[in-house]
Amino acid sequence: MAGRVKLAAAAIGLAAATAAMTVEPPARPAIPDGDWHSYGRGWTEDHFSPLTEINDRTVSRLGLAWSHDIDPTPSVLTQPVAADGVLYTAIGYSVIHAFDGATGKLLWRYDPEVGKVAGIKLRAGWGPRGIAYHDGTVFTATLEGRLIALDAKTGKPRWSVQTIDDPENALYITGPPYIVGDLVLIGNGGAEYGPVRGYVSAYDRRTGKLAWRFYTVPGKPGVKDGAASDEVMEKAASTWTGEWWKHGGGGTVWQAMAYDPQLGRVYIGTGNGSPWNQRIRSPGGGDNLFLASILALDAKTGRYIWHYQANPGENWDYNNTMDIQLTDLVIGGQRRPVLLHAPKNGFFYVIDRETGKLLGAEAFGKQTWAERIDLASGRPVEKLDARYPGGKPVLIFPGPYGAHGVATMSYSPATGLAYIPTTEAGNIYVDPPGDLPSWRHLPQLALSTGTGAPPPDMAVPPPTSALVAWDPVAQKPRWTVPTAGRLQGGTMATAGNLLFQGRSTGRFIAYAADTGRELWSFDAQTGIQASPVTYTAKGRQYVAILAGWRGSPNGDGTVWDYRTQPRRLLAFALGGARKLPPYDPGSLDPVDDPDFRLDPAKVAIGRAVYGTRCTVCHGAGVVAGGGAPDLRRAPGPMDLEAFTAIVSGGVLQEAGMPRFQDLSPAQIEGLQHFIRSRARESLAAAHQQGRQP
Ligand code: CA
Repeated sequence: MAGRVKLAAAAIGLAAATAAMTVEPPARPAIPDGDWHSYGRGWTEDHFSPLTEINDRTVSRLGLAWSHDIDPTPSVLTQPVAADGVLYTAIGYSVIHAFDGATGKLLWRYDPEVGKVAGIKLRAGWGPRGIAYHDGTVFTATLEGRLIALDAKTGKPRWSVQTIDDPENALYITGPPYIVGDLVLIGNGGAEYGPVRGYVSAYDRRTGKLAWRFYTVPGKPGVKDGAASDEVMEKAASTWTGEWWKHGGGGTVWQAMAYDPQLGRVYIGTGNGSPWNQRIRSPGGGDNLFLASILALDAKTGRYIWHYQANPGENWDYNNTMDIQLTDLVIGGQRRPVLLHAPKNGFFYVIDRETGKLLGAEAFGKQTWAERIDLASGRPVEKLDARYPGGKPVLIFPGPYGAHGVATMSYSPATGLAYIPTTEAGNIYVDPPGDLPSWRHLPQLALSTGTGAPPPDMAVPPPTSALVAWDPVAQKPRWTVPTAGRLQGGTMATAGNLLFQGRSTGRFIAYAADTGRELWSFDAQTGIQASPVTYTAKGRQYVAILAGWRGSPNGDGTVWDYRTQPRRLLAFALGGARKLPPYDPGSLDPVDDPDFRLDPAKVAIGRAVYGTRCTVCHGAGVVAGGGAPDLRRAPGPMDLEAFTAIVSGGVLQEAGMPRFQDLSPAQIEGLQHFIRSRARESLAAAHQQGRQP
């Protein structure tokens, strides 16, 4: 009740125009105001907190209360949860930590030892984005597919189940578990890494027993899976052609879900096709249900209720795995239970969650693939060249990064605005010539999309980004703040009229949620990609976020090196006065070995292998920053024997470097030559710019 009262009080202070749009939020379940239990905090999954101690008037006194240093890891996207004054988070590959929320004192730590057992799944190179808390239990998933329930007091496991049947397939988990009544749901990802068929599984949250499974795309015709999806798969199969099951189909549920206790449903968002190129996957066309869709399923049984497909015949790596947030809105004079959704394809969807009917869809970012979304049919009206026909390369916005990616959107019932970290980044799509029926996925967890390389004379404009406050009723932006580079951190809104977001530049910022005016910021000393949370401990409100950058340089002038960036969990409170120690990144220049003789033929072999195996973590073309060490100055590739022990011998596996035992000695030597050539080119470029490395 207290939360509702505070929320109403905060709403009174807003401008009249805003208040007119605002409706009473749906009744919230019994989650204490000072807790944060699920990825989006509670069942509405809106990344909104009713706490108001830190607000637009007091935020100037916000300061660092405590911090926790984190060793180098590719995993910097995790968002914590909080309950009863304890902050729980995954660090690295699902190593769960419990901290006293007021002091930062470590209470317990649980290590599922992912590096020892993940095998080829480590090649996916990501860590978990979130965990869940419910009724004294912390739930986490691991990269290679385990779902684990831990006693929140002690960190001791209560149960653990493997949710991916085949350890050799390309499926892996990065998304958070979701509590759905008495069940806990988990999906998986991997549609770029092999022939996978997406599904979501529901387990009894007390015992870990499988309750139901729902496949998102049809398997081989005539084969029943015994899954909740069996009854709709025949209908889905009629929208596919060719031998799609050999390619897996895709449609992985790798991030967003939302439990709707009012209607007894769960909504799941499905991913892109496997492979992206529909001419390979389903050569005769078709909608390819249920790719790029939101599905409403019965929460208890997993049975199909309705679906909305945003991109029929998905062809671009568009997906609907971005946030699904629940609220009520007055649209056309009628109050409706709705879900809000801003997926990669650039349109903001408002969908009636009772009927699945599309109520609104306008572009929130640059998109060039559709004329519009037809509200009557719910289908997009695609532009003529959107499917890059006839082998002609076409520049399309957005590209695979999406107009909105994995960085969390938040929705404030107090302002009636959704806060979207948006990206404007195009991609040149090419349908490669050749014999497509014989197309095969590359070996285990190698990047494989079924689209061709762009011609060298075609360029993609440099990416930009912006924080957009979107009015889902008017379907237009209320305010927009341009942000540096391509990617930003996720957003969190509070009833204190605040919006928090971390930046690639290292600044953690609080805005006035109604106007977008910047009110406060903190220098985190490294880029931020994760999403903040807020909670109370010992009666005081805290804001916490994981600072750390993973990925290639962001186009904003910053380079956050894998080895030297200071990753930390940061917690802020009013009056917090702690200071971070000074940060010196040291030299990030590549290292050359003048005696190394480059062989152009070997460089070419290495370049090809690098593009499909190494890019996701070490960056396109070998760069500094983020997901893995900068190979241009790493000691390993200096010596072929040591390099081979790392790449195919797996000696750094427990540190997160996957083993590539399927690469031949010639391919590994090629990689060494390519890396050395990149180091030499980078040094030459630095000299040319007059910089003495
Ligand atoms: Ca994808």
